Amino acid sequence: MIVILLGPPGAGKGTQASALVKRLGFPHISTGDIFRANLDAGTPLGLEARGYMAAGELVPDDLVVRLVGDRLSKPDVREKGALLDGFPRTVAQAEALEGFLTAQKAAVDACVLLDVPDSALVERLSGRRVCRGCGQGWHVSFSPPPADLKCPRCGGPIYQRDDDSEATIKSRLGVYHDQTSPLADWYKSRGLLRVVDGQAPPEEVGAALAKLLA
Ligand code: AMP
Repeated sequence: MIVILLGPPGAGKGTQASALVKRLGFPHISTGDIFRANLDAGTPLGLEARGYMAAGELVPDDLVVRLVGDRLSKPDVREKGALLDGFPRTVAQAEALEGFLTAQKAAVDACVLLDVPDSALVERLSGRRVCRGCGQGWHVSFSPPPADLKCPRCGGPIYQRDDDSEATIKSRLGVYHDQTSPLADWYKSRGLLRVVDGQAPPEEVGAALAKLLA
């Protein structure tokens, strides 16, 4: 099964994806996580992506497509499928994904849009804190992290992502509306789009997703 989680930055894709893959038992492919891990490790891929990420812009399609194509060819994905989180983000990426999957005699089963209005996203993103080790998330007002900023799950440091600054949030939302939101219609026209209210409490969103993908 190949499932895409689509939605603006801050919609809860990462949180929902982590819970979903635990339940469904298939690989979670988050292009943002892959880029951040490469940035932290100082790899050439991380260095290439750094400027785009810091500005809240998209990393060029050819780089992302190569990265995802490589990941999709691995045996775990070919055997079990994958949950794609943060990819595709442009129509060109969606077309490339279709090409990869067709070559593997596979196809996208569903594209689930987590729908959240911009007004809620700015508040969510500017207060967001995440664990550098395992990706677990908190919010300074809604679910504050521990005072020592040490992740209770893995012991990793809890930090604010560089691209969660107010100026970068604005440009990420602009990029989402210009380049990524057209994908909702792209998948709708193929009969694959499902929409979930991403403003509901996380457990309710999770339950709605589980029902859709059952
Ligand atoms: P995310 O963690 O999904 O919010 O991604 C963080 C940043 O990584 C984005 O703002 C982009 O700069 C970059 N990125 C992640 N996924 C993609 C993608 N599919 N296409 C282009 N850039 C991406």
